[in-house]
Amino acid sequence: MKHLTEEDLAGLFDTPIFRAIGEVADQLGLHCYAVGGYVRDLFLDRPSKDIDCVVVDPRCSTSADSQLSTPTEGPGIRVAKALGKRLGKGAHVSVFRNFGTAQVKWKDQEVEFVGARRESYSRDSRKPIVEDGSLEDDMDRRDFTINALAYCLTSEGLVDGKRLIDRFGGLWDMEDGLIATPLDPDITFSDDPLRMLRCIRFATQLRFQIEDETQEALNRNAERIKIISQERIIDELNKIMLAQHPSIGFDYLQRSGILQIIMPELSALDIVEERNGRAHKNNFYHTLEVLENVASPLAPLRGEGSKESLPPRGEVEGGLWLRWAALLHDIGKPRSKRWEEKVGWTFHNHNYIGQKMVAPIFRRMKLPLDERLTYVEKLVGLHMRPIAIADDVVTDSAVRRLLFEAGEDIDDLMLLCEADITSKNMQKKQRFLDNFQLVREKLADLQARDNYRTWQNPITGEEIMETFGLKPCRQIGILKQVVKDAIWDSVIPNDHDAARQFMLQKAAEMGLKKVDS
Ligand code: ATP
Ligand code: MG
Repeated sequence: MKHLTEEDLAGLFDTPIFRAIGEVADQLGLHCYAVGGYVRDLFLDRPSKDIDCVVVDPRCSTSADSQLSTPTEGPGIRVAKALGKRLGKGAHVSVFRNFGTAQVKWKDQEVEFVGARRESYSRDSRKPIVEDGSLEDDMDRRDFTINALAYCLTSEGLVDGKRLIDRFGGLWDMEDGLIATPLDPDITFSDDPLRMLRCIRFATQLRFQIEDETQEALNRNAERIKIISQERIIDELNKIMLAQHPSIGFDYLQRSGILQIIMPELSALDIVEERNGRAHKNNFYHTLEVLENVASPLAPLRGEGSKESLPPRGEVEGGLWLRWAALLHDIGKPRSKRWEEKVGWTFHNHNYIGQKMVAPIFRRMKLPLDERLTYVEKLVGLHMRPIAIADDVVTDSAVRRLLFEAGEDIDDLMLLCEADITSKNMQKKQRFLDNFQLVREKLADLQARDNYRTWQNPITGEEIMETFGLKPCRQIGILKQVVKDAIWDSVIPNDHDAARQFMLQKAAEMGLKKVDS
């Protein structure tokens, strides 16, 4: 955390936009404060563009006077409009009269204005009853102490002569790296259970600890998450997913009991069963290790070959979908788990079972059902293949088939598979990594030789039909398949002449006769 003096802060707020806000609010006789994440992030030295401002009308700011405020045009809207005028053409003002808020966009900055408010909640909704309130009321409704900081931008409105208002010791908590609620955490979480996810999300993004009482309240209120819409849940989950260390968040989600409710399939991996002295690994914590491995910018497990390869497709959206594939790669394990006397615990076909589970999870969690789903399904389904190949003699044909099935996602699949080797047995780990290197070399070699990513059979169905005067029938598929196998197994080269020759020979064996052309 950065230690900022009064002067430091005055300097940071001495910018054209903040000066303009202060001046127009002064002219209107209102008090205006920068609040929340923007102020927090100055101390944490995190970049933040969006500015939130709370505006108080000193003539009617006490709770008792709230009825006196003008219902039509709140103070936030009045400041936003005046600011728009002051900034002139380049500024764009949007007013949301129903919410009493307004937004001003200017250059690359977005400032949101709202009147100070007081909130009260009913049990079955996270939508509060909102009334005008004082700055104190407004700070009381904030989710965490570190988010309840305010900085006064106007000449009036200071509290105890200070511009920085830290009602709940947010600076101390930042210093200690703690997430804590300003008021009773049971009330804060029960009022708006989305705050539980925000709590875990901030702990993950900032690498802060959740303060003990706040953690206990998370456990007690986990069930309340059910009243939150799936869209909001996934929004927070994706923020956790994109953090530098996403496993922190999933560990908190599991320990608080929230994961059990929002993603029971993943939560179910958190078990170790033992029989006859043989235990299988905890697949939940293994999954979190794999997730960390794919999220690591250093990717210590990446093979040498990956340096030259294209940026993996997982990098799109910050690697979000590769991370989802890592999170779900073993999701089929509980359903495939068997005890076999001779070998112990087995998880046969867990990749295929897992692949089938991805779409229902995406649908339920309101994740996208487009090519991003297909990508995750594909990676989950194929994640055992490179390991199977690396465990055996690495043949050209096995690598070709892999390349054909993975297509343009081959690099991401290799990343996922390397990340999946979390064995603590260094010898075993090294053997796999060495073999993976061999698979990578073969892949690079084959890609250059044949371009199998976009492989197409040199013999088409039309050619077969024309050659033998056939209508669409089973024999066409059989002939195409034998040609494909012959090429992939290196029986014949990957070109049309050789393929046609081979096809004619096989067709003759099947009793097909050429028609005269
Ligand atoms: P970030 O923008 O990085 O997600 P932030 O703290 O700015 O973090 P926003 O969602 O932009 O989060 O909200 C701005 C401020 O509004 C927060 O700092 C907090 O004071 C308050 N806030 C937002 N959501 C809630 C909530 N559900 N309950 C209470 N206060 C909230
Ligand atoms: Mg924000």
